[in-house]
Formats: sequence, C-alpha cells, structure tokens
Amino acid sequence: MAHGNAVVVIGLGRFGRALALELVGEDTEVLGIDRDAELVQSLSGSLTHVVRADSTKEEILRQLAVHEFDRAVVAIGTDLEASILTASLLVSFGIQDVWAKAVSEAHGRILTQLGVHHVVYPEHDMGQRVAHLVRGRMLDYIEFEDDFAMVKTTPPTDIIGERLADSAVRSRYGVTVVAIKRPGEGFTYATPETVVGSEDTLIVAGRTQKTERFSDLR
Ligand code: ADP
Repeated sequence: MAHGNAVVVIGLGRFGRALALELVGEDTEVLGIDRDAELVQSLSGSLTHVVRADSTKEEILRQLAVHEFDRAVVAIGTDLEASILTASLLVSFGIQDVWAKAVSEAHGRILTQLGVHHVVYPEHDMGQRVAHLVRGRMLDYIEFEDDFAMVKTTPPTDIIGERLADSAVRSRYGVTVVAIKRPGEGFTYATPETVVGSEDTLIVAGRTQKTERFSDLR
C-alpha cells in the first residue's frame, strides 16, 4: 500500500464504513481496522485492506504500519475509552492529519486536547442540517463558516422565464445562482444569459438567512 496518499480508518461502524467506502469510491486507498470479525468480513473485497485488530494496542498498530500513514480517521464513537486510546496513539505516531468523530462536546474536547487535528460531530451536525431542511422548502442545504450557505431549491415564480441578468436575483434577494439543472439533465453553471424554467432546480449561495428566504419563496 502506498502510504503517502492512503487513509487508515479505525472503527467500521455506520460512520466509519460509509466514510471508508466513499474514499475507496474516489480512488483513495484505505486500510480499515475493526475489532469486530463480522464487520471486517463483510467489508473484505470492498476496501483496499481490512484487518481485524484492537486499535488500542500500540504494537498491533505498528505491525499494521499505521504509523507510516499521513492520514487517519478514528471512527469509534460509543466506546469512549477505545476512541481516546486510539486517538492518542495516532497522535504520538506523528501522523500529520488525524481526524476523529466525537459523540459529545466533552468527548470532542478531550480529542482536541490530545492533539487530534480535526474533530467532527456527525450526529450533531446532521441534526442541525436536517432542521433547516425540515423547516423550509430546500431540497438540500450546506452551511459553511461565517453564516454562508449553499442550498438546492426550486425557483420562485418571479424569476421564471427571465434571464438571470434581468431578474437581478443578486440585488433583489441577496443570493447568487451558482448552477442550474433542467429536468432530466445534469447541473451546469449559471450565467447572466441563463433563462430559468419552472421545472428547473437551482443551487444558490449567500448568507444563510437569505438563501433560506429565497428557497421559501413561491
Ligand atoms: P457508529 O455509530 O458509526 O456505528 P460505533 O461507535 O457504534 O459507531 O462503532 C464503532 C466501531 O468501532 C465498531 O464497529 C467497533 O467494533 C469498532 N471498535 C470499537 N473499539 C475498537 C477497538 N478498540 N479497536 C478496533 N475497533 C474498535
């Protein structure tokens, strides 16, 4: 395995498994590790390598050459002790990019104190994201830092049949139409000449509140 570009994923539960499979799908080599034999068995053939092992044991991780990787993900959530011991070993190996999933704020704080470079809160973040989808009429939603978001939505009737340049979406609604999808086609970049159809789907970017308001318009 060429360790330079490869990723080691420890814990192949729901989160780790989805993450590992997505990486492999994008042509990244993945070494998956889990202590559960059945899980390991079910993923053999789908990941570059899958090994049954206890990741809290330094010697075992070294035997698997985990210390030679540049990127690692600790996808253990429920077993706090295993998550913390594993993360601490990965950091002590000097791995450049250690990611870990946290199940609570306190868990995340400990991981950060241990020197984990990126702590993610999948359930908390997904809960927030779904709240935006439940409340509004957006088809999809992603919020970045600094109150900036991108949403997938249907166009308000006001701008249908007009060129984007003429409907002045940016000055009227404070959002920028980034891409547009005609029925049955893929997304393409929007231009000032783009005429919006009633069956089209839009991707718009802007301040969170503006993008939400825009997608609530009918
Ligand atoms: P999810 O909610 O994503 O399913 P879990 O925390 O339930 O996450 O799953 C974590 C996975 O990590 C499980 O498959 C479990 O077997 C594995 N795991 C937990 N502790 C260790 C360990 N010490 N070594 C290797 N794998 C572990």
